[in-house]
Amino acid sequence: MAANLLSLSKEDLERRVVAAGGRPFHARVVRERVLAAGVLDYAAMTSLPEDLRRRLAAEVPLLAAEQREQALAADGTTRLLLSFPSAEGPPASVETVYIPPRSARSRRGATLCVSTQVGCPVACPFCASGRAGLQRNLAPHEIIEQFLRGRALGPVSRAVVMGIGEPFLNMPALLAALECVREPFELGARSVTVSTVGFPGRLRRLAPERPPFQLAISLHTPFDEQRAQLVPAMRGTPVEDVLAAGDDWFERTGREVTYEIVLLAGVTDTREHATALAARLVSRRCSVNLIPFNAVEASGFRRPDPASVEAYRVRLADAGLVATVRHSRGAGSDAACGQLRLRTLS
Ligand code: SF4
Repeated sequence: MAANLLSLSKEDLERRVVAAGGRPFHARVVRERVLAAGVLDYAAMTSLPEDLRRRLAAEVPLLAAEQREQALAADGTTRLLLSFPSAEGPPASVETVYIPPRSARSRRGATLCVSTQVGCPVACPFCASGRAGLQRNLAPHEIIEQFLRGRALGPVSRAVVMGIGEPFLNMPALLAALECVREPFELGARSVTVSTVGFPGRLRRLAPERPPFQLAISLHTPFDEQRAQLVPAMRGTPVEDVLAAGDDWFERTGREVTYEIVLLAGVTDTREHATALAARLVSRRCSVNLIPFNAVEASGFRRPDPASVEAYRVRLADAGLVATVRHSRGAGSDAACGQLRLRTLS
């Protein structure tokens, strides 16, 4: 398996470029063309000598993944299924989703949703990604490649790390990838959101470093027992501990946490849930994202009706909380996270 360009350090790339007959500064040109200009083909790097382009194309692959599917929904949302080679075991399939702005007149670019792991060890019963368990972590270059392939579809002005996997279980790779793409993609800390189930120890350790992203914690329910069922990896961690770690995050970073609640009909969308959640959050600096469930085949969970979603939102708003409903995008393109990958595995 030849090392691809994005997996090489600056020094290693320079060595490879010189070995291929180039000058050391050509390595910087190649990186700049790929990361800043989005050129994904050596042949198009016309400022490099032709011989060098040919040799690099033969010896240092620019990208690692095979794009196995590209599913386009009516609203323009595009899901890419990427398959990365693995040193051991089967290739690693992940999804990257390109979500254009709702209005064609918007000046903003798209939001890109990237994955950090192949499969997920958290195993939430309502999520397609967790069904097959964890295969492996993604390497930094595999996360960077998702950014590059996403931008090849159009301009990107926001990134959400909400694809397959639990980012806090692969944080060094995610931070390395963000370090690489933040500048060329012009993604400030407020343009990147990382979603986690909220491991209190990991949150408290990272907060003092003020990592360059906004934090979203997938809480789903205000009740301890139910959370242990819906987010199995958090069994034994009380909801209050997660919220206290969220408070600590805000104090250390100055950025408010968003709590995400997946609304499952008759399971997490009741009046009792909304009231208990409001009581837990009302004294905190935070906001809430309500996510009506996207039906996953054979999951046993159902999508809530719009009236119960609105009643939940109003209950939080009446308590003084900022609560928004996140309407799913990409209906018709395997809209629930992980579904495209799951279909190809089954
Ligand atoms: S919802 Fe998120 S944390 Fe839970 S299994 Fe799916 S990807 Fe993992």
